[in-house]
Amino acid sequence: MKEQTLSIIKPDGVRKNLIGEVIQRFEKNGLTPIAMKMLHLTKTEAEGFYAVHKGKPFYDSLTDFMSSGPIVVMILEGEEAINKNRELMGATNPEVAAEGTIRRQYADNIEQNIVHGSDAPETAKTEIAYFFNALEVCPRP
Ligand code: ADP
Ligand code: MG
Repeated sequence: MKEQTLSIIKPDGVRKNLIGEVIQRFEKNGLTPIAMKMLHLTKTEAEGFYAVHKGKPFYDSLTDFMSSGPIVVMILEGEEAINKNRELMGATNPEVAAEGTIRRQYADNIEQNIVHGSDAPETAKTEIAYFFNALEVCPRP
């Protein structure tokens, strides 16, 4: 089924000059960017995005990290886009992520792991709405 998912190249991915590399993986694997922007989140905006993790021990550090530099936010569209993106990303912890995945190849640790991807249709919807309005989405035939 054709789906949309939210992808973020996190501050470490931008700092490591991996924007092109990450987007190329998506485009080569049937995930088409239909909306995209670069922005630098405030701490409060990062907390809002990761509200689901509020109360976890890593929440404060994670939101500091996510507001530490510019990020690239995208909507990816394609067949099974949510799971496909998660496959390309690899597991949260790069040490256990599968060979060849973005996180295995580029991430330094479980927090600074280069990319974010929505984990289910409902979260994809909420996360897309957090960053994009209808005018910013460019569906492609
Ligand atoms: P994922 O991004 O793979 O969906 P989670 O939703 O569980 O992973 O966590 C969100 C983000 O929080 C992770 O991508 C990572 O940046 C950070 N994170 C998760 N678990 C930890 C942890 N144990 N220690 C530090 N940071 C973590
Ligand atoms: Mg998650």
